[in-house]
Amino acid sequence: MLALAGVPLGLRFRFLDPSPDAAAGALGPVVVGGLGDEAALARVSEDAAVVTYEWEGVPAPGARFVETSRPVLPPPVALDVAQDRLREKELCRRLGIATPEFAAVDDRAGLERAVQALGLPAVLKTRRGGYDGKGQVVLREQRDVERALAELRADALILEAHVPFDRELSVLAVRGRDGATSCWPLVENHHADGILRWSLAPAPNLPARLQDAGEQIAGKLLDELAYVGVLAVELFDVGGELLVNELAPRVHNSGHWTIEGAVTSQFENHLRAILGWPLGSTAAVGVSAMVNCIGALPDAGVVLAISGTHFHDYGKAPRPGRKVGHVTLTARDHDDLRVRMSQLAGLPGMDVPP
Ligand code: AMP
Repeated sequence: MLALAGVPLGLRFRFLDPSPDAAAGALGPVVVGGLGDEAALARVSEDAAVVTYEWEGVPAPGARFVETSRPVLPPPVALDVAQDRLREKELCRRLGIATPEFAAVDDRAGLERAVQALGLPAVLKTRRGGYDGKGQVVLREQRDVERALAELRADALILEAHVPFDRELSVLAVRGRDGATSCWPLVENHHADGILRWSLAPAPNLPARLQDAGEQIAGKLLDELAYVGVLAVELFDVGGELLVNELAPRVHNSGHWTIEGAVTSQFENHLRAILGWPLGSTAAVGVSAMVNCIGALPDAGVVLAISGTHFHDYGKAPRPGRKVGHVTLTARDHDDLRVRMSQLAGLPGMDVPP
């Protein structure tokens, strides 16, 4: 999607992917190799004006290796932070940004202490390597504690208070090389089993105060990290107060709606930012819903028969739980949007309310 946004700007792309079947292969040469493989990293970054990444699991040492010869943006320190849930939350705490209460857990005794301090219910997560709800267990009662330790089998864990949030939101922000910053309207996200199913943008019932609060959170993080590019911050809305759940130092699934639903997409603005070009407007055009295709793709013709839909097939082999495409619906207002979104219910891969 970055390359799809960049080709009309006259940009050309080379990709690094461990799989020879990478979907990006339709848009430019793919170097097949591990994301920490120095020979592959040297080949993919050769002569590049700038190197970027769109997955926070990229090994930070690999990004730093590339940085010895090419600009790497967002800066690799963003990977260090986003790959460790404890560092992420400690950074927020240091910047005065609210998060769920948390405690580091290094062993069984540490877990007992953390449960005592935070109480139950709580969520035990691995510090590293978790995504889409993997690597985490909800602890509701004392006997869940033993089960969780057996299930996660990790010594670097974090316990978080289980937050009774009203809804999940995210803020997508972009910062240019000159420090100019802009945010898209906050997005309302709906997950099931830890996987994003659908998003509404701008989030319904979005007072200016909430938008401002989201922008302040993003702005503090962007400045602290001397960040360049798009950053996504996942948030819990608890009675109008925002708590940070996690950071994604990249273009983000909850920003896919911006392709059709905003003046400038997250992908185009990410490229503009890392190239030192002026940023485009992040204003929304009407309202949008983005629905993920999970594990299966609906028929393009059926989706496109619903007015206002745009279909994105990632060219990925379907597997249970895998995001293989998305559909964006644009509309005048949220009522109109919901009516048309309900027409997607029941189609393969689309988990939306009827
Ligand atoms: P994560 O991988 O941390 O984004 O978690 C996946 C999903 O689990 C989130 O989108 C929330 O729905 C839920 N979740 C994670 N942490 C908490 C928490 N501390 N309290 C309540 N729900 C949570």
